[in-house]
Amino acid sequence: MRSQAPAAGGDGGFHTAPDRRPRPGYSGRRRTGAGLAGLRLAGLRPAGLRPAGLRPAGLRLTGAGLAGVGASLLLLLAGCADPTPDQAPTECSVPAGSTLRDLDLQDSPETPWRKEDGEELLVYFETGGLEGRYVGLSTDAVDYWSVSPCVEAVAVASCPEDANCVTMVSVDNAGDDGESDGSFSGRDRGAYRTGGEITLHTGLLDRSSDNGALATIVHEMGHALGLVHRKDSEDVMNAYTSDTTDPEPDATNFVNLAVIYGTRH
Ligand SMILES: [Zn+2]
Repeated sequence: MRSQAPAAGGDGGFHTAPDRRPRPGYSGRRRTGAGLAGLRLAGLRPAGLRPAGLRPAGLRLTGAGLAGVGASLLLLLAGCADPTPDQAPTECSVPAGSTLRDLDLQDSPETPWRKEDGEELLVYFETGGLEGRYVGLSTDAVDYWSVSPCVEAVAVASCPEDANCVTMVSVDNAGDDGESDGSFSGRDRGAYRTGGEITLHTGLLDRSSDNGALATIVHEMGHALGLVHRKDSEDVMNAYTSDTTDPEPDATNFVNLAVIYGTRH
């Protein structure tokens, strides 16, 4: 297990929150710089994902000031009222007006894959270039996400032609900042994701427990599927994880997938 002391200066540049510090046992995550899709699609994020104006100052508005807050912001706040639902959705649908929950607004946006209503989104994760340990962990990780009624994630040695495909590669380093054990870079066309690459930085991951390495892989796959970071410090989609992070996505992650991909009812 790593026991990295929190580094002065925080994120090493790959997250945008200058006030955050890695937790003890921290393992770094996706670098913003790798988010080519995010840069390209900064203006196209899903409604409600990252509302302009949701700053702390905005929450201190007086009653009179609240009248000036847009309806979409109020809707988002209402949607965040229960960030930890007990149950994951059993169908890929959500009530009309549902919004993404417990978002870390410091994270860069992700892009959804194109999905037909009534069908699960099928995404392959190509593991042919990985060592055996990471092939096994990736095979475990896709099962966690496939619990979603919206998504079927499949680990394969080689993606079928013309399929939704995320390539998994490993590099023997700790990322450009020396603290990243995984990163994701999406390829998008227009408003949709068309592919991507997960990089496992084995310079750190090789020293992680299987639990910690699995959490990292689950986390990066979550980005690949369109999820951004969560505020909940214990959740696998939080910006930071450790060897003791529970790799199993909680119900909120599955609700968020349903918000992104589900039909409205
Ligand atoms: Zn991340």
